[in-house]
Amino acid sequence: QSTPSDARIRMRMADLASVAPEERALLLKRPVLKSDEMILKVKPIVDNVRARGDAALIELTAKFDKVQLKSTVIFPPFAPESMQIDPTVKSAIDQAYANIRKFHEAQNSEGTLVVETMPGVVCSRFARPIGRVGLYVPGGTAILPSTALMLGIPAQVAGCKEVVLATPPRADGTISPEVMYVAHRVGASAILKAGGAQAVAAMAYGTETVPKVDKIFGPGNQWVTAAKMLVQNDTDALVSIDMPAGPSEVLVIADYTANPAFVAADLLSQAEHGVDSQVVLVAVGITPEKLAKIEEEVDVQAHKLSRVDIVRESIGKSIIVKTSTVEEAVVFSNDYAPEHLILHLENAKDVVAHIDNAGSIFVGPFTPESCGDYASGTNHTLPTNGYARQFSGVNTLSFQKHITSQEITSDGLKTLGPVVATLADCEGLEAHANAVRIRLQASQ
Ligand code: NAD
Repeated sequence: QSTPSDARIRMRMADLASVAPEERALLLKRPVLKSDEMILKVKPIVDNVRARGDAALIELTAKFDKVQLKSTVIFPPFAPESMQIDPTVKSAIDQAYANIRKFHEAQNSEGTLVVETMPGVVCSRFARPIGRVGLYVPGGTAILPSTALMLGIPAQVAGCKEVVLATPPRADGTISPEVMYVAHRVGASAILKAGGAQAVAAMAYGTETVPKVDKIFGPGNQWVTAAKMLVQNDTDALVSIDMPAGPSEVLVIADYTANPAFVAADLLSQAEHGVDSQVVLVAVGITPEKLAKIEEEVDVQAHKLSRVDIVRESIGKSIIVKTSTVEEAVVFSNDYAPEHLILHLENAKDVVAHIDNAGSIFVGPFTPESCGDYASGTNHTLPTNGYARQFSGVNTLSFQKHITSQEITSDGLKTLGPVVATLADCEGLEAHANAVRIRLQASQ
């Protein structure tokens, strides 16, 4: 039975003061991802690409994307005509590029860490780029030059030598000029014209034309996510991934100072992503009149959106959680660990110090999530599904690994050596102890 198009679009309501602990736990839950099932489904696709390389890629792209490719990879220099875009869009991309680059370059400034732990015992740590990286830019339902920026810029800033950008081709077999332009700006070394599990497999194992990579980044649908999980567990592929992915989320905390129209716009900007988007509003001591105003704004603004059908479904599953204090709201938010957290609070800036779990925080009434999604400088590839408890969003360090190093002088070994030999003896590792004692004896 379909919902009438003028039916009111509204969120469910819960009051933390009266919910039982089991009900509170349910409010924190996300939909269960059927990852085992999906991994079984993508395995034949991944195995096919691994065994048959480009031939499989061409067949699978014909099957799933309905595109007959002549070649699978575009190498630079990219043809200028493939990157022709509207000048206004170009200048918006250029400004976003500059901001994102500035913020991600600043993350690169640690330099070499050198610590003398004991006299004559010097330990150091320094970053090196991951040599070859694969960036998945979704393209099944929309073109996403913003994701190309968010993955490509940190790879470029980190100094990765090989950057393979994979994205599904358009109906005519080409890649959107906006994504081509971003690929050019971030210095991509290859563009793979494929999507889904087949693109992930091609980057994990390499094919005749697709370079194999060491780490795969980027969001995508369930086929992409499952393939990333599968290849990262294959020791033959020797590939890692950025993070586990789930549907996008926002949690908004609002108090009496919040502008209802701004709050509603923020909730809807998340809800339009997809029917499985997770949208939560935590209302702190808001009067029933003000809450009704927010609900009315959600309904009115939603009906004006072209993606109203998606929004109807995602908003229908979203919740308003009422709390009496900001402290309670923050505890709830930290337990939920949202991908995006927006603070429409009187002292929004002060509340940030109390946030322990969130992918990215948007502080105050003039900081919509959209700015972080596109162009302020922060990254939009963020942990979902509660993984903000233990994962960071994609950043420059995600494209690097750290090497430690040490140099010990003869005098340093005289002090440290007996400690090490004692511990090696304690663990019964004689050769370890010998490696120290042989030197101590030689330098007597
Ligand atoms: P996509 O590029 O992820 O997937 C499209 C590919 O999926 C196709 O090329 C096809 O090969 C494969 N595919 C589709 N149906 C298949 C089937 N039945 N069997 C095998 N393969 C199949 O693009 P999408 O589908 O538009 O999904 C994009 C996803 O990325 C959305 O879920 C969106 O929310 C998410 N996203 C997240 C972020 C973020 O930062 N969190 C940003 C952008 C997009």
